[in-house]
Amino acid sequence: MSREFEGVGASPGRVLGRVRRLEWEIPPVPHRTIGPEDVDSELERFEKARKQAIARVIELQAETTDLLGRFEGKVFESQAFMIDDPDLIAGTIAYIRDNFLAAERAFELQVLEYRVRMLDSPHAMVLDRLPDLHDVRLGVLSCLLDRPEPSLEGPEAGPAMILVAQDIAPSLAVRMRPEHVLGVVTASGSRGSHSVLIARSLGIPAVVGVGADLSRIADGAKILVDGHTGRLIIDPTEAEEDGYRRAVVQTVARRKILARLAAEPTETVDGVHTVVQANIEQPFDVEQAIRLGAEGVGLFRSEFLVIGRREIPSEEEQYEAYTAVVEAFPGREVTLRTFDIGGDKFPLFLSMPAEENPYLGWRAIRVCLDLPDLFRNQLRAAVRASAHGDLRLLIPFVTSADELARTRERLAEVYESLDMVESGHRIPVGVMVETPAALETVDLLAPYADFVSLGTNDLTQYVLAADRGHAKVSGIYDPLHPALVRMYRRLAVDCSRHQLDLSVCGELSADPVGVAILLGLGYRKFSVSLSALAEIRELIRHLSVKELEQLCAENTRCESGPEIRSIFEAYFERSGALTVSGTQTAASSD
Ligand code: PEP
Ligand code: MG
Repeated sequence: MSREFEGVGASPGRVLGRVRRLEWEIPPVPHRTIGPEDVDSELERFEKARKQAIARVIELQAETTDLLGRFEGKVFESQAFMIDDPDLIAGTIAYIRDNFLAAERAFELQVLEYRVRMLDSPHAMVLDRLPDLHDVRLGVLSCLLDRPEPSLEGPEAGPAMILVAQDIAPSLAVRMRPEHVLGVVTASGSRGSHSVLIARSLGIPAVVGVGADLSRIADGAKILVDGHTGRLIIDPTEAEEDGYRRAVVQTVARRKILARLAAEPTETVDGVHTVVQANIEQPFDVEQAIRLGAEGVGLFRSEFLVIGRREIPSEEEQYEAYTAVVEAFPGREVTLRTFDIGGDKFPLFLSMPAEENPYLGWRAIRVCLDLPDLFRNQLRAAVRASAHGDLRLLIPFVTSADELARTRERLAEVYESLDMVESGHRIPVGVMVETPAALETVDLLAPYADFVSLGTNDLTQYVLAADRGHAKVSGIYDPLHPALVRMYRRLAVDCSRHQLDLSVCGELSADPVGVAILLGLGYRKFSVSLSALAEIRELIRHLSVKELEQLCAENTRCESGPEIRSIFEAYFERSGALTVSGTQTAASSD
């Protein structure tokens, strides 16, 4: 049997310890029917269990807020929404009333139907909420069946262990204490789940999505877990354990260097100043972004507020979330992207007709302009939050000046409704260049835009006609394709001509070669995903803009992405920059 397994590195850090298998299963629900005379009392039992489950969720939310912070506490709100879900309630009531099922059986069947609908969704953010549903199911059924919930504390907790489970529900995750839980490994689960967010906040390394192989890891086995790479080694050899210990020493040293470097500017060896900002998905990413030295936020994806939600989030909730991020970065830009829903991300409150080509359909600014209530709430919250710092608005998926003009009209209405017309305070509005149309018409967009952010993820799929999520065309999807590199060059020239502040927020800014090419083409501002931020900052410190400009100028006739990549990699090796970025990749986010 292989001693090595691979999952998805979800919460960084390496640990060595013994396995504690955790059965976090739903109790068996007997098929019990009732007589017509019991319907009312059964409905009452269901309502009572729902109320108890909600009370438990509120309690967990308060505990989590005390322990980890306000936004971590909010993780439990989606569970409260699920327990209050009108379809779930009506379906359970119908099973009790029409099919004479006992409340627990009726609820169980409804949850299973709900789960199937979630599993059918192609959207990662909906699938991320499956552990929340598990929690809701367990919470309500525990009340109905009068069973205690499994606990992590208590006499059986013993010494610190590595938890191995099918999945970890958020209610369990918040009970993990680093002194008892060294790490977490799950068979299913995803990087974006609430449990993973909690593990990260607690600093507990986690690997998820290991699959069925996980059942082969015995209780009590010794295991090495790397929450960065997702690698697991069972019964490690002496040499592997030594390697682990050396890595831990290196990581501690690396952390100290990172902490020192975080405060320093990101300048190239020839003295060119650059700005490296963070891409964040949730307000509680802010802490890590600051620790890694982010100079503001270049992309705050606001979809976390709407995906998997049954209602449009209130203005107040949004205002709080945006203000928290803005206040965490005093004197720095925070770039809030308006809802980029559609494509691969749909909130439950939008009943979307199935689309043949969702990436070419009703998406982002098109949806926002069509749904005035949704857009107004977000714009009002953003404008109000901008009073607390340097908040900028970024508009995704723009294809025409008219979309920006209409956005500005909506904003003017917001200033009026907030009595701000006289004050003259205006929030900067930027355009995301992620469609060929936007890239071709920077001159037409410029009158409506204060800044530009290059979105290489979507631009690549639209220019190369290759779906960004389609495994079969992943070889064609190459952000370094000559067509794209030429476009990046033109965009830099056009933005400079129209005096538009330019940054890059697509994944190319997390790719060392991508950053080197963009630097050579004149880009000075990068917004980078957290996992690569420290690496990119350090890489830039070892590059020379002068040499990169020359390299770009000499290689305008490369015929393919791999060709240009190999030229820059060879340069990294000559200049020593690759060694620098390579060594830190493994440890940077540990
Ligand atoms: C992009 O398209 O490059 C981008 C940053 O946006 P997203 O990945 O969220 O579509
Ligand atoms: Mg995009």
